[in-house]
Amino acid sequence: MDRVTRKPRHLGTTLAAVAATAVVTMVVSPTLGASAQAPQAAAKKAPQAKNVIFINGDGMGPAAREAARLYLAGLDGELTMDKLPVAGQLTTSPHDPKAVITDSAAAASAWATGEKTYNGAISVDVDGNKLATLGQQAKAAGKRTGLVTTAQVTDASPAAFFSNTADRGQQDEIARQYLDIAKPDVILGGGEDWWLPKGTAGAFPDKPAEDPSEASKGTKGNLVAKAKKKGYEYVSSAKQLGKAKAKDGKLLGLFANEEMFQQKPEGQGDVYKPVVDLATMTTKALDTLDGKGKSKNKNGFFLMVEEEGTDEFAHANNAEKTLESMRQLERAVAVARSYVATHPDTLLVVTADHETGGLSVEENDPADETGSGQSTEDGPFPVRNSDKSFTIDWTTGQHTSVAVPVTAEGPSSDRFNGKHANTYVHTVLSDILTRR
Ligand SMILES: [Zn+2]
Repeated sequence: MDRVTRKPRHLGTTLAAVAATAVVTMVVSPTLGASAQAPQAAAKKAPQAKNVIFINGDGMGPAAREAARLYLAGLDGELTMDKLPVAGQLTTSPHDPKAVITDSAAAASAWATGEKTYNGAISVDVDGNKLATLGQQAKAAGKRTGLVTTAQVTDASPAAFFSNTADRGQQDEIARQYLDIAKPDVILGGGEDWWLPKGTAGAFPDKPAEDPSEASKGTKGNLVAKAKKKGYEYVSSAKQLGKAKAKDGKLLGLFANEEMFQQKPEGQGDVYKPVVDLATMTTKALDTLDGKGKSKNKNGFFLMVEEEGTDEFAHANNAEKTLESMRQLERAVAVARSYVATHPDTLLVVTADHETGGLSVEENDPADETGSGQSTEDGPFPVRNSDKSFTIDWTTGQHTSVAVPVTAEGPSSDRFNGKHANTYVHTVLSDILTRR
C-alpha cells in the first residue's frame, strides 16, 4: 500500500514557515492593514493562529458555490464564503480498494488524520488501524474542541475528527467515544436516536409522522444521561439553547432524531427548517468555547461546523433546498467571519468534502433537458438584483470527483493557495492544533 507522502515535521522548518506566512499575511491582508508595518517589525507582531474554525459545506462543489452566488448575491455579487482573501482547491480521491470517488467518511478522515483511507472509514487506515485525529490532538494540546452540524452529530464528517471506527454506521459507538475518549466540549446538531436505547424516545418522539423510520436505536446505554453526569449541559430546543450557560464549558444539544431536516423527493415532504439554524448554533458554540470569567479560554480552540443539507438535497437533485441550505451556511460563515474580525489569532477555512450531484449552472433552455427521473433540471431560479434567471442541471444522484474550492482567512490562511490533496488540510491544521 502506498505510503502517504508528508512533509517532515521538523519544528524549526515549521516555525520558519509560519513566520514567513505571517509576514505575507500582514502585508496583503486588508483586515490587518491598519497594523501593517515594515515587514521585519510586522513579523514579530503578526498573530499566530491559536483557534481554528473549519467549515464544511458537505457536497458543496464549485458550481454549487456559483449557483448560490447568482441566487444570493447576483451577477456582480460575492458570497460571504468567497470574500475570504485566500482561495485554492482540494482534490478528494480516497484510497479505496474499489471506489474512485470519495464518500464523506474517507474525505473527513483525510482532513482529520492526513491519511487517505477507504470509503466508510472513520479515521482508521486502509488496514483498519486507528489514527490520531485532530480533535483528540487539539484536546491533548490543551485546546477546547467543538462540533456543530445540521446532520447527526455522529455523522461521518464530524465523527472523523473525534472518533475511530471501521464503519461510519456505528453512530452509537461514535457517540460513546465522544464522551469517553475525545470529549469535545461542544456538541450541537441532530441524531438523538443514537444517544438513547430502543424504547427511550427522548425529546423527539419515535416514529414521527414526517418519518416513521426514525426511532431511538442506541446500544450503548443512555448516553444523554451519561453526558449530563460528565458535566455537559444538555439542551434539545432553540429556547433551551438560548438560555444555556454551560458553566462547566460543556454543552450537548440534540435537536432532531436524525438530520435536522427531512430529505425526501422534491415536493414529497422535503423540508429544510432546522429547529435551530446553523448560524445560531455556531454563535453559541463560539461563546461556549471562548468561555467567560474564570473559565475564559486561554489556549484556543478547534471548532468544526457543517451544513449537511448541501449534500443531502444534492443527492436528491433538489436544487431549491440545496440553495436554501447554502443560504443558511452563508449566515454561519458570516458569524465565523465576524469572530475572526475581533480575534485575529483565528484561522477560518471554508471548504467541502466532495462535490455532490454533478451540479451545473445553465441558461434556461427547454430544448436542452438532458436528465430524466430525479435528475431532471431544476429552475428557473432568479438571479439576485436582476430580471434574469438560470437553470440547475444534474448528472448524478451521487458524489463526483470534481475538486472542491477552499477559501480561508486569518493566520496561515495563505497556505491554502493553489491546488492540494484534501490531506493538506491536516498538514496546515495540525501545525496549529498540536502546538502546545
Ligand atoms: Zn459528504
